[in-house]
Amino acid sequence: MPVRPIYLDCHATTPVDKQVLAAMLPYFTEHFGNPSSINHVYGWEGEAAVKQAREVLAAAINATPEEIVFTSGATEANNLAIKGVAEAYFQKGQHIITLATEHNAVLDPCKYLQSLGFEITILPVQGDGIIDLNQLEQAFRDDTVLVSVMAVNNEIGVLQPLAEIGAMCQEKNVLFHTDAAQGIGKIPLDVQGMQIDLMSLTAHKVYGPKGIGALYVRRRNPRVRLAPQQHGGGHERGMRSGTLATPQIVGFAKAVEIAIAQQDTENQRLSQLRDKLWMEISQLEGIHLNGHPSLRVAGNLNISVEGVDGAALLLGLQPVMAVSSGSACSSANTAPSHVLTALGQSRDFAYASVRFGIGRFNTDEEIDQVAAHFISTVRSLRKQSSLV
Ligand SMILES: *Cc1c(COP(=O)(O)O)cnc(C)c1O
Repeated sequence: MPVRPIYLDCHATTPVDKQVLAAMLPYFTEHFGNPSSINHVYGWEGEAAVKQAREVLAAAINATPEEIVFTSGATEANNLAIKGVAEAYFQKGQHIITLATEHNAVLDPCKYLQSLGFEITILPVQGDGIIDLNQLEQAFRDDTVLVSVMAVNNEIGVLQPLAEIGAMCQEKNVLFHTDAAQGIGKIPLDVQGMQIDLMSLTAHKVYGPKGIGALYVRRRNPRVRLAPQQHGGGHERGMRSGTLATPQIVGFAKAVEIAIAQQDTENQRLSQLRDKLWMEISQLEGIHLNGHPSLRVAGNLNISVEGVDGAALLLGLQPVMAVSSGSACSSANTAPSHVLTALGQSRDFAYASVRFGIGRFNTDEEIDQVAAHFISTVRSLRKQSSLV
């Protein structure tokens, strides 16, 4: 088999950690009971595993176990939070505030609500990708029911000031939801300290399995009401019906437990790798960093490259590294990323952008290889285009 490219796309997904897989396996075969089966030991085993996982996840964000609602991932959690609040607080108001750089799993539910008659304010971001708190302050209205601002951006890695936003929402008596899909296990998250009312989580960005996530729903001060978006057996306190996916839930908790235990040391290691990559490749002319230089998650590097075609660059990089384009290719049919566009980058300026997502299994040697190949690819593309 040919050598596979170095995986540097950890914002898209991560491999399941082998310790996570080991924790999951018995729940597929031996301990397969339905956690809702109350009449026999198979059910009790499932229930006990789910209970323990709930405790681990709650502790990770300073919540209580009853405040964790399991979902299929962050997309579903975002939908449940946004549509669930919109429906439940309809009498109070129909205005929602969010951010231009949110994941589509936040923007699309908002657009859907807009089509039903809700009013959505989509705040722009500053050139560095961070929210302007003065603009947020001015966006509040008497009929605002929800503010949804993400913890960590999935393209440019920037961190939003959650505690400041939480304090503002608290003062205005407006609920605060954050999509923390890229934050859990990577940055400190504290729903009390940051005054967060709803938080979306997912396992597969943090070395857990795909298809499992959770929504934190505050139960006290205030008790958040949610209209369920999926009706059935009344699981998860009626907020999300459906048989609980015990193996995935066990894996999710194990993944978060591991990530938090090594969060500080791993962040240090990833920052070093990221900074080294940036030092190397920024020796090239015309390389721009996208997003705030320091208020960003450890493994993220998102850059724009002048003077090369985006599609050609990605093609040239492909044999050696698996990265994502932040898009904004000059090739006609590739739409620019809404995140980079929100930073104020021109749509037609011929640049290419690349998102590097460095993770747990990347090594120092890999970063050297990646930097060298990146530099030679950009140089040769620029040489070719100057010959045309
Ligand atoms: C990956 C991601 C999602 C979607 O999560 P799924 O669990 O794959 O549904 C939502 N928001 C952000 C910020 C993400 O990075």
